[in-house]
Order: sequence, then structure tokens, then C-alpha cells
Amino acid sequence: MTATPAWPPKSLPRLFVATPLAEGAVVELDGAQVNYLGNVLRLGVGGDVLLFNGSSGEWLATIAEAGRKRMRLRVERRTKPVEAVPDLWLAFAPVKRAAVDWLVEKATELGVARLMPVVTQRTVVERVKGERLRAIAIEAAEQCGRTLVPTIEEPVSLAKLLAEREAGRTLYFADETGGEAMGTAFMAGPSMILTGPEGGFTAEERDLIRAESNVRAVSLGPRILRAETAALAAVSGWMALAGDWRSL
Ligand code: SAM
Repeated sequence: MTATPAWPPKSLPRLFVATPLAEGAVVELDGAQVNYLGNVLRLGVGGDVLLFNGSSGEWLATIAEAGRKRMRLRVERRTKPVEAVPDLWLAFAPVKRAAVDWLVEKATELGVARLMPVVTQRTVVERVKGERLRAIAIEAAEQCGRTLVPTIEEPVSLAKLLAEREAGRTLYFADETGGEAMGTAFMAGPSMILTGPEGGFTAEERDLIRAESNVRAVSLGPRILRAETAALAAVSGWMALAGDWRSL
């Protein structure tokens, strides 16, 4: 006897909506989302869609009205609670736009809760387009099944990041000049990973960071990784050693 396929099937489209979700609620869609559902997926009235809003989990909704430019969905029931995302923040020195886009998309898939661009002495890119990065994070969350979208902060200086860090949040400083192995350094609990720009950290910055309390300098191995590679390698290591990849 074939097993009853899980419901909802993985193949249902997942959309982020910035509106409250509850049983019986009506959600209006327009623009790109209507085009995607109507023209790309050829869905119409009665079609099923998964919705999430970043704060109340994932919900199954049915298309109740379908026009060329607008759709109205009725929310049926919750299919997933809000995910328990590991409390990991990634503070990264922004690099070139394509690499930052890629970093934000991959960090979202990997389960990072907050992304914090940090301007260091050798950071060449001081501005990031928050709206664009948020759209990338939303699209990555839609694709990978997350019900929370990581928050993306405005860029801050390294000094401000260190001054405002809560004492209980361990700072894992990816230091290309050497540090502890991930296996001994990474621990569960409120954490922040910090990686530098193409030109790395200056000696002065390195001393400043290492002088902080609750900081651990971590090595990402014997090779020098590109800034975006280093950020994602560190996040992956933390997820495997201290995050929610341990208890699958
Ligand atoms: N200074 C070198 C350069 O000019 O290419 C390397 C900088 S590296 C591209 C950028 C950042 O990635 C570093 O500041 C560090 O945070 C991280 N990183 C790269 N390789 C690393 C390693 N083997 N161990 C620890 N962190 C590393």
C-alpha cells in the first residue's frame, strides 16, 4: 500500500506576505506574486498556496478570487509553527555587491537570525542596499522553507558593533592570522560570528576585538578564504557544532 503523501506537498508555492495570518483571514496579492501564481504556475481559484509572514509560522491558503492583476486568498490553517532559529548573528564586512547578495542568500538558507554589515578600516564597500538584500533574504526564505526572515541591519562601524554587543553574546572572531579550531571554540548559545573584508582586519582592529570580553578568535583552516566564503564556512561550522544541524 503506498504511503499517504505528506500534506501539504513540498511542491506547493511558498510566498512571504507582510500581513497578519490567521484562520479565515483574507490576503490580497498583487504585482509579481499574482504574476507568479497566475501566469507562471497557472494557478486559479481553488489553488493552494503556502504563506508566511515572518512572525506567525506558515499557513495553507486557497485562492478565492483570481484576476489578471489581483488575487484574493483565504487562509485555511497553520501548517508550520514559527521556526526556532538558532540565535546566531553574522557580522560581516561588506564586499562587492554580487558577493554580498550571494552571502545574504546563503546565510538565510543556513539559518542565520540576523545579518549585520560592519564597516572596518579596510572595508571598500560602505553602503549596502538594505531593501534589495531584504528581498533576497525573503526569496531565500520562501525557497528553503524558513518561516522567519533574517533581519538585515544598517551598516555600523566595528567600534559601534563592539560597544553595543550584549555581554552574553559570544563573539566568534574569524581571524585569518590564527585562532582556535571551530571544534573547540563553537558553543551553543547567543552567538555572533565576525568576518573581515578582502583586505582582512588591521593589527589595530585585531587587538581591539581580542581585547573584548566573551570573544573567541577562530581559525577557518590553513587557507585564506575569500570574505564571503569565510562567512559561510564559519556559519556552517557553527550550525553543525552548536546549531540545529546537530539534532536532525
Ligand atoms: N588578508 C587576506 C587578504 O588580503 O586576502 C585575507 C582576508 S580574508 C579574504 C577576509 C576575512 O575572511 C578575514 O578577515 C577573516 O575574517 C576571514 N578569513 C579568511 N580566511 C580565514 C581563515 N583561514 N581563518 C580565519 N578567518 C579567515
